[in-house]
Amino acid sequence: MTKVFLDPRPKPKQSILDIKAYVPGSHYLESFDAPIVLSANETPLGPSPKAKAAFVSSSENLGRYPDGSCQILKRAIADVHGLNPSRVVCGAGSDEILSLIAQSYLSENDEAIYTEHGFLLYKIVILAAGATPVAAKESYFTASIENILACVTNRTKVVFLANPNNPTGTFVSIEDVCKLRQSLPEDVLLVLDAAYAEYVHRNDYEAGIQLAATTSNTVMTRTFSKIYGLAALRLGWAYCSAEIADVLNRVRGPFNVSAPAIAAGSAAIADFEHLERARQHNDTWLVWLTNEISKLGIEVTNSVGNFVLIHFSESSNSAVKVDAFLKANGIICRRAEGYGLAGSLRITIGTEKENRLLIETLSRFTSSNGK
Ligand SMILES: *Cc1c(COP(=O)(O)O)cnc(C)c1O
Repeated sequence: MTKVFLDPRPKPKQSILDIKAYVPGSHYLESFDAPIVLSANETPLGPSPKAKAAFVSSSENLGRYPDGSCQILKRAIADVHGLNPSRVVCGAGSDEILSLIAQSYLSENDEAIYTEHGFLLYKIVILAAGATPVAAKESYFTASIENILACVTNRTKVVFLANPNNPTGTFVSIEDVCKLRQSLPEDVLLVLDAAYAEYVHRNDYEAGIQLAATTSNTVMTRTFSKIYGLAALRLGWAYCSAEIADVLNRVRGPFNVSAPAIAAGSAAIADFEHLERARQHNDTWLVWLTNEISKLGIEVTNSVGNFVLIHFSESSNSAVKVDAFLKANGIICRRAEGYGLAGSLRITIGTEKENRLLIETLSRFTSSNGK
């Protein structure tokens, strides 16, 4: 009789071992006490002072569980955006909501589509749910509706679209998003991740509120981590049909959003002045940085977000060299090889001083090294 040796160790779902763990943008540099951090698309203005004050007040009640239904926060979000609060779902960052969606709507043998240079988390949550990620080709670093539709099979259950996309900074017009929704089968859930929506000033752009409000198969996700400057608190939300909200509310942890996050988020979303300051800062410096980078002869993709993607030839290995040069000068940006963009770097818009220093440093690199 042949002896069968069984491996007694616990085993996760097979697809989980296919996950490459997400590598966050670094905030640390050896030999710099206060490096310039342009690696994580955080706002250089930080949060609203009112959000900070609300956060501090919430420390009076740390012994109590938070309101698991996030009533105050949902009402604040609903007031600002004209929504039905019962269809808002809150999460520990929009990352959690994306995970909840994958967990709820994907099983083994299902497929979910994301785009070629789309946000890396989609692939992770799809694999974690046991499903198969399918990458749709982009054209000119922009999601292609045609290519997404061409990837649809009868196993497709979810489409994840970051709009605008990270790390490319490009967006899909609301007309095309509506076309996508109309052309997708009705049982395919369309997830519009609008993490950077507040930064976009384009009359052909919409975050997707209307679609989420009027269709039963579209979810829009938003975050407090970007323009609201509350990344440390982990807070995001989704708008969707009552049925989808009910599903996500069953799956989420009963206290998935902390009380300090609820307090700070509710104050942040009502501070329009701070929001406007953050927007104006970005408007000014996005244009300035794009121009200055172009003037250095470096290719830069037009961005509508709070970051730019710059390109070098992959064969010259310049992206690696520029990244190293910036780091040696105390500036941290983000390599994009995990996104299939080995020749590109993503740089977040910083303070005026940081932006000027970045350009000065890049210009020292190009004048001594060429590109
Ligand atoms: C930053 C970012 C998020 C936000 O994630 P949080 O978990 O809310 O911090 C979501 N989607 C995209 C595309 C992002 O770039």
